[in-house]
Amino acid sequence: MKFKIAVIKGDGIGPEVVNEAIKVLNAVGNRFGHTFHFQEVVAGGQAIDSFGEPLPAKALDTCRASDSVLLGAVGGPRWDALPGHLRPERALLGLRSGLDLFANIRPAVLFPALKGACPLRQDIAEKGIDLVVVRESTGGIYFGKRGRKNSGADESAYDTELYSRMEVERIARIAFETAAKRRKHVTSIDKANILESSRLWREVVHEVASSYPDITLADMLVDNAAMQLVRNPSAFDVIVTSNMFGDILSDEAAQITGSIGILASASLGSSSLGMYEPIHGSAPDIAGQGKANPIATILSAAMMLKMSFGLEEEAYAVEKAVNDALEAGYRTGDIMEPGKKLVGTETMGRVITENILKANQ
Ligand code: NAD
Repeated sequence: MKFKIAVIKGDGIGPEVVNEAIKVLNAVGNRFGHTFHFQEVVAGGQAIDSFGEPLPAKALDTCRASDSVLLGAVGGPRWDALPGHLRPERALLGLRSGLDLFANIRPAVLFPALKGACPLRQDIAEKGIDLVVVRESTGGIYFGKRGRKNSGADESAYDTELYSRMEVERIARIAFETAAKRRKHVTSIDKANILESSRLWREVVHEVASSYPDITLADMLVDNAAMQLVRNPSAFDVIVTSNMFGDILSDEAAQITGSIGILASASLGSSSLGMYEPIHGSAPDIAGQGKANPIATILSAAMMLKMSFGLEEEAYAVEKAVNDALEAGYRTGDIMEPGKKLVGTETMGRVITENILKANQ
């Protein structure tokens, strides 16, 4: 099969980690007989330097015309003084809204080889962590009516949490479809004991659940969810939640699996076109030094294979190649432990690529 992938390498360590993901995708193409055509797109800080804006219209058009988008990271201190609408990170919002990507999917997996890096008690880490947070990402309080009024002691400010039936329904469907390919359990997280918007959320999620009789559904209040994620994370399979609750809980879920350098994400909409990116930023402190961990970007490419291209076996081959590299003791600085082999970005990418090709021999 042939696929067109728009590639936004971005700033800082972005190009370093994306280059390794491209090598991995080419190895997958080689082993399984697919062709990936990579079209480079300039966005973020690089685009500000070249065109004076973070997301030129042409960049968005190229992404729209692709089968999927692979992104490294954007931003850096060099552009920090620019006004909000001109900052590199604005490109991400433009891409999400321009491509109508309303669902943010973040798997949080604790690789067996990295159990020592888990900040939770070892008996909890031993039970394993393998969950996915499905976060609604274009609605809710981050996009609702907001403002300030009055002045002096009476000055007040407000933000509004508002969800429509349609918005909840479409994110719930993504969660149930995700669970259908996993352990078939969805936990819907809300604050329905207090918030009216959460009561609608809960109602609609239950309606959607009736179309998925094989999948179990549990409701959980967000404060309890924050506790259960550190107390008993192995009980979660797929979590579905609103924009703000998802923002907070997905960072908590990321942290309990160890390093930011291994966590992948996908942004999806109603078509198969998705945007895949590591959850970390451009890491200016280590940029250009060949130290960045490319695993998060490589696993994001694996998510692309599975979620946008339907290539399950190929995605599994990438995940296994990463696991084998970790089991063999290869570590970048962010996940280094005593007695392991410290390697840089390129070596980690090469070991993973070789693991994929090895299975060919
Ligand atoms: P960051 O994720 O870039 O870095 C946080 C820490 O994690 C740093 O110490 C960094 O060295 C380390 N780190 C991150 N990725 C790593 C990797 N792959 N391997 C090893 N270590 C890694 O977050 P930050 O420092 O808060 O942000 C830096 C810039 O990135 C800012 O301009 C921010 O706005 C931007 N940012 C972009 C995105 C994105 O493009 N999606 C996301 C977050 C932050």
